[in-house]
Amino acid sequence: DWVSVEEVLRVAIDETPHAAGFNVGIDRDLPLVRADAAQLERAFANLLENAARYGGDHPVAVRARAVGHRLLIRIVDRGPGIHGRELERVFEPFYRAPDVRGDGHVGSGLGLAVVRGFVEANGGRVWAESLPGQGTTFVVELPLGDAPAERGAPALEPTGAGR
Ligand code: ATP
Ligand code: MG
Repeated sequence: DWVSVEEVLRVAIDETPHAAGFNVGIDRDLPLVRADAAQLERAFANLLENAARYGGDHPVAVRARAVGHRLLIRIVDRGPGIHGRELERVFEPFYRAPDVRGDGHVGSGLGLAVVRGFVEANGGRVWAESLPGQGTTFVVELPLGDAPAERGAPALEPTGAGR
């Protein structure tokens, strides 16, 4: 189906505890993506839940914009961050970083494995960027096909952007 990422993000924010106060910036007129809305909603909700849980008391930002033939959704927190060697491991099922404080919740370590599974099932990619001590950004990239809402010339694609 053709899915509005804005709508999916807003539903995910609504259903995630503590996400109501997040700073949300979604570009207008984002092209639709061809995806399973329920899977994307679950993926975003898991990322929002982590940001609320591990982001400390700092504000969390949610951003979505179209860049060339991709949609980029970023969830940015200012929590303790994730060490470089763990950036990929956190997506493994059952993996939890050592010394996670979070809110004391004992998670199963499955949330991010589900995120990656669902994002990739919809043709996208997801990764984490972090400077320990300064926070973590999770980036979800979804491909834009010839979405019905896409109009005009696509934006210039920056070179060297990637993981
Ligand atoms: P579950 O989501 O299954 O309840 P969980 O949150 O521990 O449990 P994941 O969501 O898969 O599992 O996250 C795996 C690990 O990645 C977390 O335990 C934590 O160590 C780390 N992590 C995830 N998100 C963040 C974040 N925003 N900041 C810092 N660490 C994070
Ligand atoms: Mg989690």
